[in-house]
Amino acid sequence: MQKIAIIGGGPAGLTAAIDGAKNGLSVDLYEQYHIGDHIRCAEGFFDTLNMLGEPKAGVRFKVDEMKFKVKHEYVFPSDDQTNLWMIDRREWQIGLAEEARSLGVTIYENTAISKDKFKKLVQAYDWVIDSSGAPSITSKVYGFNHFYKETSGLTVQYTLLGDFSKYNGKIFAALIENYSGYYWIFPKSNHEANVGLIFFKNTKENLWDELEKVIEKEGLASYTKTKKLGGICPVVQPEKLVYGNALLTGDAAGLISALHGGGIDNACISGKIAIECIAKNEVDQYKSKINDVLGKKLAGETRLANLAYKLNPSILDKIVKVIHRSNKPLGAYAFLNGNGDAFEKIGLLKGIIPSILKN
Ligand SMILES: Cc1cc2nc3c(=O)[nH]c(=O)nc-3n(C[C@H](O)[C@H](O)[C@H](O)COP(=O)(O)OP(=O)(O)OC[C@H]3O[C@@H](n4cnc5c(N)ncnc54)[C@H](O)[C@@H]3O)c2cc1C
Repeated sequence: MQKIAIIGGGPAGLTAAIDGAKNGLSVDLYEQYHIGDHIRCAEGFFDTLNMLGEPKAGVRFKVDEMKFKVKHEYVFPSDDQTNLWMIDRREWQIGLAEEARSLGVTIYENTAISKDKFKKLVQAYDWVIDSSGAPSITSKVYGFNHFYKETSGLTVQYTLLGDFSKYNGKIFAALIENYSGYYWIFPKSNHEANVGLIFFKNTKENLWDELEKVIEKEGLASYTKTKKLGGICPVVQPEKLVYGNALLTGDAAGLISALHGGGIDNACISGKIAIECIAKNEVDQYKSKINDVLGKKLAGETRLANLAYKLNPSILDKIVKVIHRSNKPLGAYAFLNGNGDAFEKIGLLKGIIPSILKN
């Protein structure tokens, strides 16, 4: 039986652990904290490729609609095919860890893997799945940890307590001028929400000052701040995804969407693909398999984001208006991002967007 060590008990690591056990592998998972502690996330679970099913634990609500503001506000409703949820990631991950344990995975909590321990793990196990986020422990050992900082989006976020009842069942996002990023209000209940922003380009702005402006503008200044966090969102894959017998998954593999900063779904999917490659003895094909499944979607999202950077807000607003008029449910746009001809297929912009995306 092949022995697998997984570093990190986030979405990528826990999904790999469950799939590893289901595939008859012997799996040990090492997490530096307790599972579910110190999570940095707005907690929107958007399974854009519809591959993961409903989250099994920690669900707060299924998102009915997303409101998106450029110059004007546009409402994009969900439908049955749109697998979009607000979750409590701590509860969700504790649920995944319970499932993994029930399948025979040994989870070592409060066990940080240092560079020295990493070198021992790669000796002791057939395969190591590095799901340690960014910068990954592999990158520290192999000396490419700066890569993530140079290629990542930057985020800051507060959790606020107050009246969020007007967002019942909804999430809200609004563009920041010239689309260097956007801010979000993702409610977890009628009285609690994650409010944050992401910048995808280097900025001289102080992100916390920018977030204070958002809070003021959205009428949330009197609300109570209960959590403050920030982090990087790696949107570019490192040159390799396999170093020796260590496979990078999730954020460690740079799999966050450059368009919206979501990465939970891609992390889970990469954990599954890592296990599939190990179980089938096809680790040499790991990167190409990742890109078979996620490559078109991620590349399409990056092209869309780069396009949006170049446009002024009025033009962007017009584009979103036309997209909105096509009257598709939210999941249709996300799912179709997986296909290079997506916008052509749903007849958007009479070929303007598809032709830009192809260049
Ligand atoms: C502010 C913010 C908001 C976000 N909001 C969303 C959102 O709403 N929806 C969405 O889809 N994505 C969101 N993302 C992105 C999402 O959080 C990540 O893509 C996702 O968590 C990646 O999962 P992962 O398993 O690869 O890594 P992580 O979730 O980072 O998990 C890594 C795990 O490894 C552990 N670890 C790290 N180093 C070691 C070590 N040396 N030894 C042992 N354990 C270690 C960590 O403690 C952690 O538990 C957001 C990101 C940020 C920063």
